[in-house]
Order: sequence, then C-alpha cells, then structure tokens
Amino acid sequence: MLSTLLVVIDGLRATDVPKMPFLAELARCGVSYGQARSVAPSLTRPAAASLATGAAPGATGIAGNRLWADGHPIDTGRPDHLELLRSLRGNRLLPVPTLGEHLADHGRKLVAVGTGSNGCTLLLNPGAVDGHGAVIGAHPSGHDAFYARPESVRRRLAGNTPRAAGGQFPELDWATDLIVDYVMPELTPDVLVVWSGELDEVQHGHGVDCPAGDDALSAIDRRLRRLIDRVREQAPHIDVIVTADHGFSNATHALDVAEMTSPIPPPLSGDVQLVHNNGGLLVYPRRRLRTGEANAVLDAIMSAGWSGPTFADGGTVPGVLSLADLCSAQRADDGLLAYVSLTYYDRHGDIRVGHSTQNGDAHLAGGHGSTSSADMRIPLVLNGPSCRTGHETQHPADHLDIPATICRLMGLPIPPSMSGRVLSEASLRGAGNGSEPPKNRRVVAERSASDVTTAHFQEFSGRQYFLTAERHRT
Ligand SMILES: [Zn+2]
Repeated sequence: MLSTLLVVIDGLRATDVPKMPFLAELARCGVSYGQARSVAPSLTRPAAASLATGAAPGATGIAGNRLWADGHPIDTGRPDHLELLRSLRGNRLLPVPTLGEHLADHGRKLVAVGTGSNGCTLLLNPGAVDGHGAVIGAHPSGHDAFYARPESVRRRLAGNTPRAAGGQFPELDWATDLIVDYVMPELTPDVLVVWSGELDEVQHGHGVDCPAGDDALSAIDRRLRRLIDRVREQAPHIDVIVTADHGFSNATHALDVAEMTSPIPPPLSGDVQLVHNNGGLLVYPRRRLRTGEANAVLDAIMSAGWSGPTFADGGTVPGVLSLADLCSAQRADDGLLAYVSLTYYDRHGDIRVGHSTQNGDAHLAGGHGSTSSADMRIPLVLNGPSCRTGHETQHPADHLDIPATICRLMGLPIPPSMSGRVLSEASLRGAGNGSEPPKNRRVVAERSASDVTTAHFQEFSGRQYFLTAERHRT
C-alpha cells in the first residue's frame, strides 16, 4: 500500500516556493526545511542517484550529468548510455544498494515516474531492469518519448504514449493520470517517486526571475496540486515529501571545453578528459597519471582565469580542496580526478558564473552545477500524518537524508550503505535531534594572499553537510 510520495521538481529554488501557492500551503501545514542542500556537484543525475541510494555522488560514481568511463563519454540522461555504463561496471549501474532494492528485500515496492530525461528516471530505481519495482519515463521530446522497465510494464504500456492534452506541460497531467489509473491500482507501489523535469528546461532557456520562469512555477504548482489531491483520493494516509535536485543561477558567460583544455600543457592535455557539466566541470584522466602529472594538470586549471573552487584528492596543489571531504570518504572506482566549480568572485567583488559547453553549443541563460549557494540550496517539505504541522526548521538536511527517512517512516531498517540521517525533527513520533545546534566548520585553501577558496560545512547529528564554497580572486 502506498505510504510515501516523493516529488522532485527539477531546478526549483527554495526562494521560489512562495510563488507556488499550493506548495507553500503544503509547507505551512507540514514541515519546511530552511537550510536544505543539494548533493555536490549540484546536478540532476548525481541528485537522482543519491536519492535512489542515500549515498553521496562519490559513492554512486554518478558525479555528473555527463561522465567519462573507460574511454567512453556517457550522457547519464540516456538509458542506452546507462546500459553501457552498467556493462562497464560489471553489470551493476550503481555500486551501492538502492532504496528500491532494499524495499524489494522487505517485500515492498518502489515505482518512479518521471517527465525529465529517461536516464534520470531510470537512475531513481535502476533495479527496475531486474524486476524490482518499476520506472516509467515520459520525456517530452526526442525519439525515446516513452520508456518503461521492467519489460512487463513496457509491454503493458506499449502504445500509451503521452497524449496531446492541452495547456503547458501536458506530460505532468499525463503522468498523474497514469499514476492514478494504472500505477497505483495495478503496480501497487509502497513508495512512489515523481520527477518533474519541466521547470529545469524553462530556466535553462530563459534564466531565473523572469516571466517565463514565473509562468512555469504557476503551471507546475497547479499540476502538483492535482497530482497530490488525486493520489490522496486513493491513499489518504500517505506522507508527501517535495524537494528539488538543485538550485539555479543565471550565467554571466559561457566556456567551451576546448577553450578550457588549452591551459593544460601538452602532452598532458591529451591525457585528461574535461567533461562539461553546466556550472561544473569534471576532470577524468585518460590514463593513470603519476602524482606529479596530476598536480601539473590541477595547477594549470587553478591558474586558468575561469576556474572557481576546485576539489581533488591526493595532491598538494595550493588552493585545491579535498574531493573526499565534499563527496564522500567512500569512493566509487569511477576515476574522477577533479570537480571544478565555475563560479568565483572577481577582483571587483562581482560574482562570475561560467557555464561549460562543448562544440559551440547554444549558450544557456541559466544553469547549475557550481558550489554557489544559489545552486546548492533546495526546498524540502514534508507533509502527512507522520509529520509535524506548521513547523519550520533550520536544521541542515540534504538528499542523502531522504531515503533513510523514508525507511524510518515505513518502519524498515536503514541499510549501512545509506549515509544520511533520519529527519526525526520532522516526525510526530521522533524525539528529534533538536537539542544540539549544528556546528559550523570552514575549510580555507589559499593559493596566494589574493586567491582564497573557502568551503563551508555544517556538522549535525553525526553528519557533515556541505553548504557552499567560494573563491575570491582579487
Ligand atoms: Zn536538474
């Protein structure tokens, strides 16, 4: 029986919740987190994989929307690319157990329905390929307009492509109809994850704080109300969690991967692969690099005018912060050398937000993927019979806490692979973690007196939360 509905609105900023009357009311009548954060890098598919596992991107090996794996460029939005990644990883897409598999072990079921990329929907429950629950994707454009796993669900839905309903974002209404007419009565999930991809596309095209974005927020809010009302008609006692995968910011300039590769001295430039990820850049070695070589690459990147806070492991390059600190001490064997955030404060104190592209792709007005607080901050709302009412908390929380909290809400054990905490301050039953205030921690890395990177963390209830990192180049 359905007990939890998790809704992820792609790219929704916490500051935009007041523009969504239904979501704002849901928050007012439930629990609202004022200090919730994305995982880092603040990108769609890393967040999806972390929501699916309760493990950090460093542990899932999904550090970006685009990756480099054993000589292959991987677009994690594409199921065919994820199938290749699965085969490269010994027939397992994510190296850590998923919530969907954990539920299956306990006779429960997770179903994910998404209108973002089909790869994103698959990452929410990769075990669906093996029959653990299901994933159903309705990406509004492209040849793969309809996607479902396992095969039995795909066959059942064959020909049932998103219908041409009127209005903005008809796919969301289609997804709601599919959920109430088919998913709930026939697949009988215990946990339902719904991913709405529409806002992200609008904001990439138009930026944030603009009429097109405000229209999209209103349209999505109306559809969110319809979804939750209709699901609650069939399952009145469910708990609802609404969040986003990352925040958003307007770009000040575009950076092409070829341009970003140029500061790396040959022949090393041929030995590393820079992978563009919007406001973030991932650096993968194409062969095993010696420490001195890796340091030379990192030094060239740190010296380049476009680089912001930079995270890597093992080296001692001035100004570089620890990747393990950021992502996870437990690391997937994904070969990642560095994550570079492409925002920094220039010598006038103005923020510069670069967005990486490739092959002269169209410059996007807005995006995410950096360590800025605009990209890292997300909304998080819990509403339902297990949750407190009218409670706003400033306790830190992030994506990793959501699967652990869902397990606790269902009375299931929390597997050790989930590194999040239970959001017990949100619960009616829980005693809360409230007595001890979060402890702030700052890590400073100086490249020179005029080039300083600072990362901000909070320690709370046995967890370390990454909040933001900024680089001042004066
Ligand atoms: Zn996203």
